[in-house]
Amino acid sequence: MPTVETVKGPVEVGDLGPTLMHEHVFVLSTEHVQNYGDGSWWDEEARVADAVTKLSALRAKGITTIVDPTVWGIGRYIPRIQRINEQVDLNIIVATGLYAYEELPHQYAYRGPGLLLDVPEPMVTDFGRDIVDGIGSTGVKAAFLKCCVEAYGLTPGVERIARAVARTHVETGAPITVHTSGPAESGRLAVDLFSKEGVDLTKVVIGHAGDSNNLDYLMELADSGATLGMDRFGLDIFNPTAERVRTIAALATSGYADRMVLSHDSSCFIDYFGAAHDAARSAAAPNWHYEYISDDVLPALREAGVTEAQIDQMLVENPRRYFARTGS
Ligand SMILES: [Zn+2]
Repeated sequence: MPTVETVKGPVEVGDLGPTLMHEHVFVLSTEHVQNYGDGSWWDEEARVADAVTKLSALRAKGITTIVDPTVWGIGRYIPRIQRINEQVDLNIIVATGLYAYEELPHQYAYRGPGLLLDVPEPMVTDFGRDIVDGIGSTGVKAAFLKCCVEAYGLTPGVERIARAVARTHVETGAPITVHTSGPAESGRLAVDLFSKEGVDLTKVVIGHAGDSNNLDYLMELADSGATLGMDRFGLDIFNPTAERVRTIAALATSGYADRMVLSHDSSCFIDYFGAAHDAARSAAAPNWHYEYISDDVLPALREAGVTEAQIDQMLVENPRRYFARTGS
């Protein structure tokens, strides 16, 4: 049985169980936290304790694995995740890659093939190291790759990141999750680039595909072999739950349950709202929390005609297939 790396070490993919395929523990800017959060809206001990509480409550709902695509750009910091995971019986799968909508970080701008420092693509070197050797000195290995293709499309920076992610996938076999824009239908750009780079599209999740209800667009992506991330439940500002449910039910009826995964894209804390975090979330997105799928979405899917076997396919079988690497 193939294994997948988690924060606590390798786990057999057959043991992952019900899996939420896109949840963050934290979304942070390290500089924002260090300069403006201390003594204000960020209390390390309180936030860690809060995360333990929220993730334990999720585990109590029967979810046994979360897949966390937090990478450089939105505050990946594995020692904090390790500390939390020591106190929660949950598989947490972490990522490598880069989160950028338009521009490359300066740290990669001058290093690379044909650049000022003419070296092999340093992103491929760094991403590969996270997967093969582990992240920093934590001993934790990344199990998948993350990048973004937003409404801005394939800007030079975004394209270079996406190609580096694709090449690391080809070298290591690690699967990919790409953040896309549902309204801009930028999943097409990602699928096109990845297929030209020789990516196995059955190892790609088109993140946030579920923000779209355009069945033609979604079926086109799924027909490439890619998996649709129906992964923002509770974010009604992007697409209301009733619409998300209707779209999933229609796709399941058309035979696409084997190419959809479920999640919230939620977090214990996201620093976009600063001190107004709790108030902003409860006002704008009260259902945007880890337990919404278990409590409300699964009953709504059943009500809409999605079968128990199809739910199992989306929550258990598809994640297992995504992380099963040949030879691992
Ligand atoms: Zn996300």
